[in-house]
Amino acid sequence: MDEQVSDGSPQEIPGVLHLDMDAFFASVEVRENPRLAGLPVVVGGTGARGVVAAASYPARTRGIRSAMPMATARRLAPDLIIVPPRGDLYREVSAQVMTILHDVVADVEQISVDEAFLDVRGARRLFGEPEQIAALLRRRIREELDLPSSVGGSVSRPVAKIASARAKPDGQLIIPADRTADFLAPLPVGAISGIGPKAQTALERLGVHRIGQLRDIPPATLARALGPRAPEIRALADGNDRTGLGRRTKDRSLGTERTWDEDLTDPDEVRRRITVMADDVARQLRRGGFVTRTVVLKLRAPDGTTRTRSSTLDQPTSSGERLREQVVALWEREHSSLPRIRLAGVRAAHLETADGRAQQSELSERPAGWQDLESAMDRAIERFGAGSLGRGSTLDGAPRTPGRAGPQSPESAPGGDPSALRFP
Ligand SMILES: [Mg+2]
Repeated sequence: MDEQVSDGSPQEIPGVLHLDMDAFFASVEVRENPRLAGLPVVVGGTGARGVVAAASYPARTRGIRSAMPMATARRLAPDLIIVPPRGDLYREVSAQVMTILHDVVADVEQISVDEAFLDVRGARRLFGEPEQIAALLRRRIREELDLPSSVGGSVSRPVAKIASARAKPDGQLIIPADRTADFLAPLPVGAISGIGPKAQTALERLGVHRIGQLRDIPPATLARALGPRAPEIRALADGNDRTGLGRRTKDRSLGTERTWDEDLTDPDEVRRRITVMADDVARQLRRGGFVTRTVVLKLRAPDGTTRTRSSTLDQPTSSGERLREQVVALWEREHSSLPRIRLAGVRAAHLETADGRAQQSELSERPAGWQDLESAMDRAIERFGAGSLGRGSTLDGAPRTPGRAGPQSPESAPGGDPSALRFP
């Protein structure tokens, strides 16, 4: 389905769209309180280790970014307006955005609270070319919800995401198939979501700073710098990526991670928190239709010492109970050498698509899952509003906008811990 083709012909339709709300939480707050319009507004925690969850564009022009410590943001803009997050409101607006998308396009894959990929190739007869569909979606979101959004479009999912980032704020950018390589060439390699800081450093050592330069590197050299993903990234740079909607599971992982305001010193408390995370990861697996064999626990002490330990299961699973057992066993082995914990993360790696049996257990678990999810959300919002915003991310290092997928279909549970994030 996601095979690579290489003709890059202009006839190919750039029908993979990535729609992303602009400064989502901040835009919602400005809508609710129009006196904030044009001012440097951030949503986030005000505690000692509070971080910026979303920054309005006037705040961004002052250098403020999501995930920045609030103390830094305050230094950059002494007149900064800090609004505590209102998770229920964002979740509700998120659902309204997704309703508009589903209204126009059949094939929608929500990837976080404020972004989705859409395949609009089937919507063309009704609504026109991808440019017109992107404009229609943005117009409806503006008219019905009074919020700005941006859209990128391409023949390829990762390129659509890069394009939407370039279209911001309040814009759209659709890249024709035969212009893909030229569009990417001048962009920094870090614009590719699979290239984290580590890979970026490896590429810089080769003198590669821009995506176009990836094309000049011999494949073996590139493989040494980027590992097994090298061919995929090279194909992207060449304009030959044709990844569409639907998740590829190979080399995929998902997880959740939190940093606390205060060190955790009570082993029972750490155990309790990592089991909550394990449950959350299990829910993410079930919601995505995945199972995992590899459970990873990451722990960080206040001095920065980090332990990453994994265990491999005999049978792939999406069971919260199985994941809890694994992370607790990993924790038992480490906790005597890490008496104080500042950060913990739980990740499921090497995902596989769930088989029929796993799907069934998902169905039978759904009613309980709903309630769990709701209470997890409530707990998260309490913590989130009280001090720091837990810095969620996939554990493989790609920074993400805080927020996680809300409803993906009428059957899936709404909302989620705003600090826990989905992988793309
Ligand atoms: Mg966004």
